[in-house]
Amino acid sequence: MLMLREREAIVAYGLKLIRSGLTTGSGGNLSILSRKDNLIAISPSGIDYHEMTIADVVIVDRAGRKVEGALKPSSELGFHLALYSAREDITSVVHTHSVYATTIACLHWEIPAVHYLVAFSGDKVPLAAYATFGSEALADNIIAAIGDYNAVLLANHGLVAVGHDLDNAFNTAEEIELVARIYYQAKSLGDPVLVGAEEMKIVAEKFRSYGQQDQDIS
Ligand code: 13P
Ligand code: ZN
Repeated sequence: MLMLREREAIVAYGLKLIRSGLTTGSGGNLSILSRKDNLIAISPSGIDYHEMTIADVVIVDRAGRKVEGALKPSSELGFHLALYSAREDITSVVHTHSVYATTIACLHWEIPAVHYLVAFSGDKVPLAAYATFGSEALADNIIAAIGDYNAVLLANHGLVAVGHDLDNAFNTAEEIELVARIYYQAKSLGDPVLVGAEEMKIVAEKFRSYGQQDQDIS
């Protein structure tokens, strides 16, 4: 079986998506690109995350041709492929229908720097214009909106997060949902005071060494 570790990660993080409330049913999808094998492991279309097994994960090449797997790949394979082509720095894509991010996306708003954790995306979360799920137009709109950001809202649909690995993309989806919720609540009470552009640059710099990233463990 090809990409065993990646298959296991897709199943494990699919369950995390459901358990964390970031998506429901078979909504959302996730993938990992192996740059070594030039192959992508992606969740199958329409399968409940509780039921998904490693054999259900579909392996495709960079053009989206199926290499291994009995099931149909996610209907959003197109935007996963487009993101891997557009962004050399990523090896994972996570798509959710998380409620607060989607609420903001239904207003066709971006999420500004209302809380410093927006730095998981950049200095904001941009918005991709609406297009039908699974369409080439949706992939085009995502690529037009995402630039160097690590998250993008999909109008009337949900959120996409990208990362240097699956854990990173998942964390971004989770933290941006928190920021979306804070934005919603702050907007409900008044006019949120935003973090300034200069301060967001400082936060972005600090994020590069946050946690254990620059520990010398040799
Ligand atoms: P799939 O089950 O085909 O991945 O579709 C879910 C979804 O979120 C479509 O946007
Ligand atoms: Zn979706």
